[in-house]
Amino acid sequence: MRPGDYRCFIGQAENCGSGTRLATLGRAFTIARPKLARVMRKSLIAANWKCHGSLLMVDDFANALTHHTMADVVVFPPAVFVERFANQALNTVDCGVQDIGVAESGAYTGEVAGEMAREAGAKWVIIGHSERRNDQQESDELIAQKLLAATRAELRPILCVGETQSQREAGDALAVVEQQLLSAVAKLDVSQISIGAVAYEPVWAIGTGLTATPQQAQDMHKGIRELLRQIDERTADETRIIYGGSVKADNAASLFSQPDIDGALVGGASLQLDTFMGIIAAA
Ligand code: PEP
Repeated sequence: MRPGDYRCFIGQAENCGSGTRLATLGRAFTIARPKLARVMRKSLIAANWKCHGSLLMVDDFANALTHHTMADVVVFPPAVFVERFANQALNTVDCGVQDIGVAESGAYTGEVAGEMAREAGAKWVIIGHSERRNDQQESDELIAQKLLAATRAELRPILCVGETQSQREAGDALAVVEQQLLSAVAKLDVSQISIGAVAYEPVWAIGTGLTATPQQAQDMHKGIRELLRQIDERTADETRIIYGGSVKADNAASLFSQPDIDGALVGGASLQLDTFMGIIAAA
């Protein structure tokens, strides 16, 4: 049986690409996953507010992002604002949390579990942002556990990967990104990553005003997709690989014109409604 095939049971079906194994009844049989001739990936534009924002800003964004667009739009406010955002927003925009803990509950002061975030209205979660890798010393092992926790909680993960300036200068950028990706999905069936997205975020471009050129970003996105293809062809075709690193309304269109760039994870430029809407319009 291959990832994505459907194993059917009397009375229920279990998608083998899902992390959740359901209790089974009766005898099983398998339906092969159909081959798709060509997969269209819908753009994904995500706003990472980091530790910025207020209830007023939540209301402004939720009340303004009310039109269906060519892209899926997700806002990641600080966790305490997620419920308010989810309650205010129409189905034109999702919201998510910027991190989750590994445990479902327990004596972990300050942690928010995935299930709790989902109960508050989050549909998405950012995993492995470079600020958490660096500031909170999140290891590849912890990130793999968080990715597993996200799928367990039925949150769509955006897995962040990206090299530092010195790693790029040493010619190691692709190797670093491949290692981050492979270690993060080690505990999963890789097809589960297509439920969310991979964000290529070169550390040297985050919050610095430096942006990877469209060609630099495309080369890395293509490398990521080729790596996924070595594991599972359909996952490679379906997974959205978005770019993050000083994306603005005036550089978004040239990035999005690249064949393997499926949207953006936006930090600073997502804090102003008009600039964020400009990025959505470019998708
Ligand atoms: C980010 O924090 O994920 C990010 C891409 O930030 P910025 O757009 O500010 O570079």
